[in-house]
Amino acid sequence: MSSVKERFLRYVQVETTSCEMSESCPSTSGQKVLGAMLVEEMKAMGMEDVRMDEYGYVYGFIPAKGLKDAPAIGLISHMDTSEAVHGATKPVVIPDYDGGPIRLKNGVEISGFDFLPNLAGQELIVGSGDSVLGADDKAGIAEILAMCERLLAPDAPDHGRVCVAFTPDEEIGRGADRFDVAGFGADFAYTVDGGALGELEYECFNAASCAVKVKGVSCHTGEAKGEMINASLVAMEYTGMLPPWERPEHTEGYEGFYHLEMMNGTEEAAELRFLLRDHDAGKLEMKKETMRTIGEVLNKRYGDGTVSLEIRDYYRNMREIVGQHPKILEKAKVAFMSNRVEPIIKPIRGGTDGARLSFMGLPCPNLSTGGYNFHGRKELIPVPAMEKMVNVLFSLITG
Ligand SMILES: [Zn+2]
Repeated sequence: MSSVKERFLRYVQVETTSCEMSESCPSTSGQKVLGAMLVEEMKAMGMEDVRMDEYGYVYGFIPAKGLKDAPAIGLISHMDTSEAVHGATKPVVIPDYDGGPIRLKNGVEISGFDFLPNLAGQELIVGSGDSVLGADDKAGIAEILAMCERLLAPDAPDHGRVCVAFTPDEEIGRGADRFDVAGFGADFAYTVDGGALGELEYECFNAASCAVKVKGVSCHTGEAKGEMINASLVAMEYTGMLPPWERPEHTEGYEGFYHLEMMNGTEEAAELRFLLRDHDAGKLEMKKETMRTIGEVLNKRYGDGTVSLEIRDYYRNMREIVGQHPKILEKAKVAFMSNRVEPIIKPIRGGTDGARLSFMGLPCPNLSTGGYNFHGRKELIPVPAMEKMVNVLFSLITG
């Protein structure tokens, strides 16, 4: 069995679902179980300075061979899996996929996806039907370590220093929180956390949130004329003034949006919470301005202090940073193409740990794992795509 497949089948059986409600780091103890397993394997294959810190971050290194002046390249993936569907899986291997519907336990059927017929004839790995498969992102871990194993073989070509990290709690947005950028020591890095083979991502949203509070005037409904200001209705008016076509369900590609995430209200008080997203930092500022302007309009209509806003910035588009280092992207493109994989460059409609790491001083675009349908029971990954990614990473380091 290929090293990457064998590794992957083992890693996905360890339960590492992260948990938003937990305040500890890692958020769940299973992540340290997988971390300890990885530490042993990295030591056994001869990696140096292998360690897991108290927060569950795993680090390991391969020193340069021959090329002392080559840049130190980082490779990163995450150990946790999405909370969307809990649990580890008993993976199922389909040796020679026929291109048709795949029936799993619990009546789960993988069918109707455009990409499926193209996978006919390949060996696929799917989940058992009662959890995610966990290719996001254990395929990344398996691919990185299978590549490291090959790099440590005596006959491997010369290469620069390789820095490897496996992070906890990426799925709950905390993967970069305690990342030791200085100790990692890479000049730049790649997360191996994307989907279909060939994906190369270096643009994500700029993200902010906006909490809108509405204060109403309540009184007896029988004597309300000219007096009552119903906070819930003002909140609805606020929402109604936003452009309806700029919502997640009507946007794609580089189109940003306003997303009403939560609403709550009585006649006395109401609250709205919005997510604001745009790849273009200037357009995100305009969205914030729109939010403020609507507040002012409603305050003119109903009196000062009726509507108040709190806007917070979250993450920024890593293009700002990665775009300053075109060689990092060029290197990834060459690694894909030298393995006959067409790079697919598309904007991420979300954020990544790599985006945050980029602003922490470690430029960090994202590479494919080869998997599909992340965060659901229908997740799957073709074995040849994983093997191809091992070759791509090998080219990236030795090329
Ligand atoms: Zn992921």
